[in-house]
Amino acid sequence: MDVRLLEATDDPERVICTAARSDYSSGFVGDQPFNETMATVDGDTLEDKKRSLTGNLLRHGHFGPFEHPQATFGVKGISRSCMAQLTRHRHVSFDVQSMRYVSFDEVDPEDVREGAMVVTPPSVTDPDWIGRNQRHADTDEETVEERKRVFRESVTQSVESYQELLDLGMAPEDARFVLPIGTEVNLVCSLNPRMLMHIADMRAAADAQWEIRELTEQFLDLAAEWCPLTFAEYDEQLKGRKNRLAP
Ligand SMILES: Cc1cc2nc3c(=O)[nH]c(=O)nc-3n(C[C@H](O)[C@H](O)[C@H](O)COP(=O)(O)OP(=O)(O)OC[C@H]3O[C@@H](n4cnc5c(N)ncnc54)[C@H](O)[C@@H]3O)c2cc1C
Repeated sequence: MDVRLLEATDDPERVICTAARSDYSSGFVGDQPFNETMATVDGDTLEDKKRSLTGNLLRHGHFGPFEHPQATFGVKGISRSCMAQLTRHRHVSFDVQSMRYVSFDEVDPEDVREGAMVVTPPSVTDPDWIGRNQRHADTDEETVEERKRVFRESVTQSVESYQELLDLGMAPEDARFVLPIGTEVNLVCSLNPRMLMHIADMRAAADAQWEIRELTEQFLDLAAEWCPLTFAEYDEQLKGRKNRLAP
C-alpha cells in the first residue's frame, strides 16, 4: 500500500489551541493575536505553550478541540476487505475508486498470479506468520507452497473470469461480482485528529487485522509530521488504551 498526506489544515495545533482557549476566555479569540490567546498557558515559548495545552487537553479527555483541523489522505492499493473496515468509521469522508466506472480489462492475469491487482496476505507466503485467528501456529514450507498455489490460482482465475464476462458484454458493475475481496482499491479520505486517534485506538490494536493495522500506522506516521505535538502525546500517553477517545 501507499499512503500520502494530500492536504491538511495549516498549523493544526494553533487551531486546536485557539478553540480550546476560546472555551475559557472572557474575550473573543477572533479579536486577539495568538500569543495573547495563549498568554496564561504554561511554557516559555509559544511552542512550549502549545505542547503543554494540547497535552493537558488529551490527558483530561477534553477532545473536542481536536475536531477542528482536517487532513486528507490518499491511499493506494489496499484490499476491498481493508476498505470495508476503514469505511465503518462514520466521521470520516471518503471517495472510493469505482468498480462500475473503472474496469480492470488491461490487467494481465499472469501479473495477478505474481501479485498485481489483488493484495496477498502475508500468511500466503510467510511460514512464520502468526495471524490472530489462524488454525495452525507452525506451518511447514510444503504447506506454504500449497497455499501459494491455491491462492494464486484462485485470484488469477477470478480475474480471467471477470475479463471474460466483460468480453461477453457484461457491464463492469456486474462482472466485478466474481472478483475477490482482496482486490486492490484506491481511495481518498478526510478526517480530524480526534477521529484518527479513535481509529488508531481500534485499528492499531493487537486484535485488529494486519492490513488495517499497517494502514493505521502509516496514517499515524504522517499525522506525526502534520500535527506533531498531539500525535507525540498520543503515542506516549494514550496509544494502546482501550477506546479512550470515544467510549
Ligand atoms: C477488532 C475488530 C473487530 C470487529 N469486528 C466486527 C464484526 O465482526 N462485525 C461488524 O459489524 N463490525 C466489526 N467491527 C467494527 C466495529 O464494531 C465498529 O463498527 C467500527 O470499528 C466503527 O467504530 P465505532 O463503533 O467506534 O464508530 P465510529 O463510526 O468510528 O464512530 C466513533 C464514535 O462515535 C460514536 N458514534 C458514532 N455513531 C454513533 C451512533 N449512531 N450512536 C452512538 N454513538 C455513535 C461512538 O462513540 C463511536 O465509538 C470490528 C472492529 C474491530 C476493531
